[in-house]
Amino acid sequence: MIAPGAVIGILGGGQLGRMMALAAAQLGYTAHVYAPEPRAESVAAQVSADYTQGAYDDEDALAAFAAQVAVVTYEFENVAAAPLAAITRHAPLHPPARALEVAQDRVNEKTFVEALGGRPAPWQQVDSADDLARAVAAIGAPGILKTRRDGYDGKGQWRIRDAADAAGLDLPSTPLIYEGFVTFFGEFSVILVRGQDGTVQFWDSARNEHVDGILARSTVPAPAGIAAQVPAARALAQKVAEALDYVGVLTLEFFATEDGPVFNEMAPRVHNSGHWSIEGALASQFENHVRAILSLPLGSTALVSAGAVMDNLIGDQADQWPALLAEPANHLHLYGKAETRAGRKMGHVTRLVG
Ligand code: AMP
Repeated sequence: MIAPGAVIGILGGGQLGRMMALAAAQLGYTAHVYAPEPRAESVAAQVSADYTQGAYDDEDALAAFAAQVAVVTYEFENVAAAPLAAITRHAPLHPPARALEVAQDRVNEKTFVEALGGRPAPWQQVDSADDLARAVAAIGAPGILKTRRDGYDGKGQWRIRDAADAAGLDLPSTPLIYEGFVTFFGEFSVILVRGQDGTVQFWDSARNEHVDGILARSTVPAPAGIAAQVPAARALAQKVAEALDYVGVLTLEFFATEDGPVFNEMAPRVHNSGHWSIEGALASQFENHVRAILSLPLGSTALVSAGAVMDNLIGDQADQWPALLAEPANHLHLYGKAETRAGRKMGHVTRLVG
């Protein structure tokens, strides 16, 4: 156990790091954030004791940062895994770098999950127009062409309606993957925390609703049709965590289909679909992530009420803050972002049910 007073290093300067730092502060720890943007642009820095501006591949800067903290974690998975060896010479890194390598590349991720018995949408790697034509012929259309790396919130994705659509596409010069379109009746996520002794706990799975590829609402508990698929999805998530010797919070996203759960993607970190747990569970995803990486006992993931609904505030939706505050039962979170942009996550609001 790392005693209170210690410093937690966080790679990534966004709202997930901000909420981790707030959870760490509650338990008596401070945060030191490492991110490439200037300090004034990091919303995690606003609530953290220390900040290092550095590139994610600057090994000297990473090593100097790691030498100042008791443990390092990350809130952002698009960090190259190799330079992180500079960190592990000075401080433990949780979750492990291997989790990043797997999760940051859609081909690695799907291959890894398939080897553990998981079922993703049918997919093929695409590196040329010929590859794409072959993939559409083999898998069928409609489908979605995605960048293998650096995609989030529906960015780096192109819907393909038919072969003509594929042929007309001006392919980006980055590695891609073509996925068959999954017909689903709902989307949900499994969020677990794994401690250093191998203990695993799950939060209730949320039903997730996306608008334009961006999470709009998470609801717990999920309706019965989704709930029936959660045990199989949890079993897969636990296998993934164990295979990676994972420590911390891990998220897997699924499509609920008539044929059972189809794996969509994983995130080796706390997740937007778990923000409801700040007020809706005895211990939030942020608190238990902090506890796990410090080797503290985990808190209970049980619901504190009948359920919770979390709505993201995207772009100018956050301008509604006065009306949201006027409703006394709302738990409003604003991330402190100075600039409002379309599609940008500015905050969220959680309402407990029952
Ligand atoms: P992703 O960033 O891959 O999670 O995609 C964002 C959202 O796009 C998902 O949550 C789904 O709503 C939708 N989506 C992505 N891939 C597929 C697919 N293969 N079939 C159907 N919908 C998809």
